[in-house]
Amino acid sequence: MALTQTIYQSPVFQQACNQFDDAADIIGMDAGLRERTKRPRRCVIVSMPVRMDSGNIEIFEGYRVQHNLSTGPAKGGIRFHQDVTLGEVAALAMWMSWKCSLVGLPYGGAKGGVIVNARDMSLTELERLSRRYMQEITPFIGPNIDIPAPDVGTNEQVMAWMMDTYSNHVGHFDPGVITGKPIALGGSLGRREATGEGVAWFVKAYLQDLGVTPETTTVVIQGFGNVGSETALVLYDWGAEVIGISDFTGGIYNPKGINLKEAIAYSAQNRSLQGYTGGQAVTNEELLELPCTVLIPAALERVITEKNAGKLKCRMLAEGANGPTTNEADRILTARGDIELIPDVLCNSGGVIVSYFEWLQNLQNYYWTKGEVFDKLYRMLAKAKASVDETQKKYGCSRRTAALALGISRVAEAKAKRGLFP
Ligand code: NAD
Repeated sequence: MALTQTIYQSPVFQQACNQFDDAADIIGMDAGLRERTKRPRRCVIVSMPVRMDSGNIEIFEGYRVQHNLSTGPAKGGIRFHQDVTLGEVAALAMWMSWKCSLVGLPYGGAKGGVIVNARDMSLTELERLSRRYMQEITPFIGPNIDIPAPDVGTNEQVMAWMMDTYSNHVGHFDPGVITGKPIALGGSLGRREATGEGVAWFVKAYLQDLGVTPETTTVVIQGFGNVGSETALVLYDWGAEVIGISDFTGGIYNPKGINLKEAIAYSAQNRSLQGYTGGQAVTNEELLELPCTVLIPAALERVITEKNAGKLKCRMLAEGANGPTTNEADRILTARGDIELIPDVLCNSGGVIVSYFEWLQNLQNYYWTKGEVFDKLYRMLAKAKASVDETQKKYGCSRRTAALALGISRVAEAKAKRGLFP
């Protein structure tokens, strides 16, 4: 068995492959093209010696997977998390390919990851690791090759260190190599809020299709980082009540509504929600089963499983996170038929769309207002929603399969037209 096949035995990679096969079946893709389109194009494994504040040297392992390079430079975030595996990064890279293609961005898909619990590091250790990772992947990235961005455990500051490392390597300021940067270094207005803005936009649009009003909408969100907290703020401003939130330490439930500004300030000061008293403490498992209108997983993969899919008490499941629903859970939800699902590749696409805008602004050295950014974002989201809804009707399939069928067919067509090399 090829080494990559053993590495890809991870459940999350299998999950992405099973989703791919469902969509490829619907569009009738032939076996050769199917295998070519599914497999990651390039996987880089790096080991990074980093001097810790104690003076000791620790070796960290990191990955960059470029799934598809046929439709433009690759694009995808970098995750710092203790449970990162190559299979997980490969699955996330694959989803990036379909997402970019689905919303019409001129990108392939990629993802990066480092096995580390960044919370245990000092700021100086985190800087040394971030710079070292960038240095190791520099031969494989660039504004026309592969453009990273933030993901779980990384943020604007990490992007700034990485951009600086790359710029020093090429000998000039080159902000187009990475997105999600601070505004002072060529970041885009609205990028920090973009993923949450997009998730909230889809939630509102699909609730409106169902005739549900903001005043009657309650929201539960797992994960209170960039995506979760920004989504919460937009839905609250719209008029919905956010009644449950959580992070890696556990959750808070308040049926009268959580004071979001207070929760965000508490979480920033204490680096978690642990000990926050604005509601009743619940576990992450209990949180997912709370009665609500909209449940938004916005943390990690594989949290909606065959164990809890039958017990969800929401009207809508909006996937802010990538890959939160297992294949078995998908089947249970489809059989139930009472939960509206907004699949990850559509639901959280606002982030990569505004990353694309940031890259465009960097390449042009011409910067847009926040109004221009959001106006263009909403138009792209509306177009993506319309094409997914139309495809779902055409094939009579689930919304996930429709979204993937659109993304996959565009990549496959480009591969077929280009020939065997790309
Ligand atoms: P983040 O690091 O800012 O936040 C992650 C949150 O999840 C934190 O609150 C963390 O405590 C929580 N968390 C971690 N482990 C958990 C667990 N086991 N149970 C409950 N909560 C847990 O990351 P983010 O950028 O908000 O990303 C969240 C998800 O959204 C990921 O799946 C990511 O791939 C996806 N996503 C992010 C972006 C983006 O622009 N940042 C874009 C698209 C998709």
